[in-house]
Amino acid sequence: EKPLHIVGGGLAGSEAAWQAAQMGVPVILHEMRPGRGTDAHKTDGLAELVCSNSFRSDDHQQNAVGVLHEEMRMAGSLIMASADRHQVPAGSALAVDRDGFSDAVTESLQQHPLISIERGEVTGLPPQDWERSIIATGPLTAPSLADAIRRETGEQSLAFFDAIAPIIHFDSIDLDTCWFQSRYDKVGPGGTGKDYINCPMDEAQYNGFIDALLCGEKTEFKEWEGTPYFDGCLPIEIMAERGRETLRHGPMKPMGLTNAHAPDIKPYAVVQLRQDNALGTLYNMVGFQTKLKYGAQKDIFQMIPGLENAEFARLGGLHRNTYINSPQLLDSSLQLKTRQGLRFAGQITGCEGYVESAAIGLLTGRFAAIELLGGEPSLPPVTTAFGALLGHITGGHLSSDDEPGKRSFQPMNVNFGLFPPVEIVKPEGVKRFRGKDKAIVKKRTIAARALSDCRQWLGLAG
Ligand code: FAD
Repeated sequence: EKPLHIVGGGLAGSEAAWQAAQMGVPVILHEMRPGRGTDAHKTDGLAELVCSNSFRSDDHQQNAVGVLHEEMRMAGSLIMASADRHQVPAGSALAVDRDGFSDAVTESLQQHPLISIERGEVTGLPPQDWERSIIATGPLTAPSLADAIRRETGEQSLAFFDAIAPIIHFDSIDLDTCWFQSRYDKVGPGGTGKDYINCPMDEAQYNGFIDALLCGEKTEFKEWEGTPYFDGCLPIEIMAERGRETLRHGPMKPMGLTNAHAPDIKPYAVVQLRQDNALGTLYNMVGFQTKLKYGAQKDIFQMIPGLENAEFARLGGLHRNTYINSPQLLDSSLQLKTRQGLRFAGQITGCEGYVESAAIGLLTGRFAAIELLGGEPSLPPVTTAFGALLGHITGGHLSSDDEPGKRSFQPMNVNFGLFPPVEIVKPEGVKRFRGKDKAIVKKRTIAARALSDCRQWLGLAG
């Protein structure tokens, strides 16, 4: 019987190996540590947590990552079982003792009769005689394998750095201040001439904003220092440092835009937001990649007219991250379109975070195992957290690369903006049903639907 080869024993690879083996498929798990390390890993343990020890919120009633935790538990996740067993107190978050957690994962995999662990770097794409394989080598994939992936997928398809612009929940944008319009009302392919949301600034607001950018606290990024900023990815605070007017002639230029709420007043500068997912629940800030600290970003971006109450699905950032352009390269079950039998899992597919990486590992491991057993993978419903995350990676995302030098596919944590929306009706007997209460009911409804649909998908209903 041909084994499933998995390259990388991190969060995703460990979970993929467990899932496949539990389904009766023999697995060979290749991990390069300790022979070769990465800039972040410190041990030779499998599923090492390289930074924080938190799996974030464990609230499965109104938090998207909490829902994902619960779905993974339902699917028999090794990562979640080990995390639960090595939990440390952290309020409503799930945090773990990192060594206890990694040791537990390593031991479970070592003791599994169908899993063998081979220590050694895989330096190229899986050889043809590995009938089924999964690449789960993470954001710090070793260079020779990264080169091989780039050769297979094309120059433009592998990113080494993330230059991320913040992403905002649509329903937190104030449309009494902002308006829909494309610059010069241009109608692009599939567009309407009203594809962007525009936030206007007068001269005083613009100057206040530039001052805040210049003073805002920035993150240190050792690896990035000395690396030239590439075209189209200059952080906004660096642009502001180059001159007070630079942003007004760059991403914040007001040309070709007329404020629908005040047609006679020419805006001095405009921040544009572009739809980020097919559902239209998320919008990104065009050209706003940044190295500002998270707290500073929130304070400064909420100064923008119309974004005073903005809720961020993700904040901006800049860090080393190897990931492929999955919506173009992978099919719906995470298989490379150009090479049957080769799948990807974890952060290299363009998800973000320990939990998300493990969840994609879980799905990929199952899909590969089902095929090896002669079946056809069934995809999780889009209403589940599994499905929402998978949809983001394999194509639910808009991928109109309309700005040269910019990639529109960017890694993201799981969040409610990735789920299909629900209609909320005012509960009976409730007099005032305001924005905040409504948002809670919405989250709870999406969460309950996800868990129920996941149970059904896994055949646990009843
Ligand atoms: P990894 O867990 O990195 O696993 C990949 C494995 O593949 C590693 O064990 C590596 O040694 C191995 N490998 C690589 N190349 C080869 C090769 N050629 N042959 C054989 N083995 C190979 N997420 C959070 O949720 N919270 C955080 O605090 C957090 N902090 C982060 C800090 C840093 C510096 C980085 C880089 C990422 C961080 N992340 C964080 C993001 C991400 O969730 C983690 O990187 C996560 O570990 C990704 O899981 P993974 O399985 O895809 O990759």
